[in-house]
Amino acid sequence: MSEETPLTHLLYYKDAYLKEFDAKILKIQNTNEEYHMVLDQTAFYPLGGGQPADTGIIKKEKREIKVSDARMLNGRVIHIAKEVVGEIKEGDHVEGVIDWDRRYALMLNHTAAHLMSEALRKVTGLPMKIVGSGIDAEKVRLDLAYDGSLGPALPQIEKIANDIIRENRAVIAKTMPRKIAQRYVEKFHESLKTLPPRVQEVRIVEIKDLHACACGGTHLRNTGEIGAIKILKRRSKGKGVERIEFLAQKS
Ligand SMILES: [Zn+2]
Repeated sequence: MSEETPLTHLLYYKDAYLKEFDAKILKIQNTNEEYHMVLDQTAFYPLGGGQPADTGIIKKEKREIKVSDARMLNGRVIHIAKEVVGEIKEGDHVEGVIDWDRRYALMLNHTAAHLMSEALRKVTGLPMKIVGSGIDAEKVRLDLAYDGSLGPALPQIEKIANDIIRENRAVIAKTMPRKIAQRYVEKFHESLKTLPPRVQEVRIVEIKDLHACACGGTHLRNTGEIGAIKILKRRSKGKGVERIEFLAQKS
């Protein structure tokens, strides 16, 4: 996308529960049998921070374009479609609708991932070093640097995670300068070490008074929106890495 294309206004940061929105098409590019569209504003979350991109549709009157992927490129969200039927052009006013069931499942699982890292820390007594993760609508996978087996501790980890749900804690996002953010997350046994040095304004996601870390994803308003967290499996990946998989069910 050219430098002149204005940056996309990110509606999902103002309201993670926004399902539909109006927008204007700023740019359309046709590359490799894909259409790449930049809108002036969007509720489509682009792939990043361990959270998959939203899918959904962009509509203009009776025309519907299926958005199968979204990527962030230099401050612009690229909405990717396999085909565009009929005429649609730059400057058109359109309506965007995200696949809400899938996105809400992702928000449940993503928020559960934050909550589980706190449950894991409580049970092991160590700040968890997450060496890999994957969040999708069906489950969360966390790979943790840990000597020994988490197997015997799983029932306790699951119980603590579910206790946090019942405490119905607010989940809050705030942006602050890096130095302040560093001190802020240290109170919660977290660090910004893995964040690239160029990031100077840091978005912090906090489960109120319990856990805070840098994150760019979309989250629930309260932990109580989760009905239950279930650990699905655990296995050793060898070399001091434990993998656990879990999911959050809605209440
Ligand atoms: Zn997050």
